[in-house]
Amino acid sequence: MIRFLSMGAFAMTLLGVSAAMGQQDFSGVEIKATRITEHVHMLEGRGGNLAVSIGEDGVLLIDDQYAPLAERILTAIDKLGGKKPKFILNTHWHGDHTGGNEFFGETGTIIAHTNVRERLATPQELFGRTIAPLPAGALPVITFDESLNIHFNGEELRVMHFPHGHTDGDSVVLFTKSNIIHMGDLMFMGMFPFVDLDHGGDVDGLILNVQRVIDQIQPGIKVIPGHGPLSDYEGLKTYHQMLVDTTDVVRKAIKAGKSAEFIKKMPAPEKWKSWGNGFIKTDRWMETIHRSLTRK
Ligand SMILES: [Zn+2]
Repeated sequence: MIRFLSMGAFAMTLLGVSAAMGQQDFSGVEIKATRITEHVHMLEGRGGNLAVSIGEDGVLLIDDQYAPLAERILTAIDKLGGKKPKFILNTHWHGDHTGGNEFFGETGTIIAHTNVRERLATPQELFGRTIAPLPAGALPVITFDESLNIHFNGEELRVMHFPHGHTDGDSVVLFTKSNIIHMGDLMFMGMFPFVDLDHGGDVDGLILNVQRVIDQIQPGIKVIPGHGPLSDYEGLKTYHQMLVDTTDVVRKAIKAGKSAEFIKKMPAPEKWKSWGNGFIKTDRWMETIHRSLTRK
């Protein structure tokens, strides 16, 4: 349903622009859980994909979608045998990944990159709207600049910051024993990604970051994208190839002297056409690449 919305509605839906929250109907949203290992699950509702680790140390939640879904997320965790999350990790600041912070922050400790806290604590302009700062209780309590290791439920979780990809505050979370990685919005599976150029995002940076992740993981890994279905090593490589191929086409067109208007109307390479049926249509993706490559 989301794919038929206009760009403005997309912004509200995907990013949770606070002014628009009242207009969103969450009544039909159900939280679907997928067990990946004995104690790690992927949860899907509306907004960014969640991961949850449930075990003898308690519950750790990665991202928390929208505020109206928080109770439902907690119910889903309860059904899997967990209690209120002890730790909540935000992969980045967008509202479809941090909307539940106020609810979960009451009883849990929120962790995020320094830039995520900075953006959540100050007004942000997105798509011509002002997003109000979150209340103090919804802000990350623990912040880090490069990486952080969490020893939880019998394994080490490596939280790694990758600068200037989707935003300026993106982190991925590697479950070293379970062999799972949560990519945050550095990965949109099966659809062109949203790259937030106005908040530190960069298309070449995104490509570099995804390659750096691929270099650090092994085949057999399960990959949770920020948006889209559960994926794997090959899926992440496919996504990376899409980024390289589509960016290549735009780079060549710029070199050939084509205008922004021309580039926006170019088709995606045949292999990647279906990726334009998601949140970000082909014209928007081409425009994003062009803008990212030509601004300096
Ligand atoms: Zn995002």
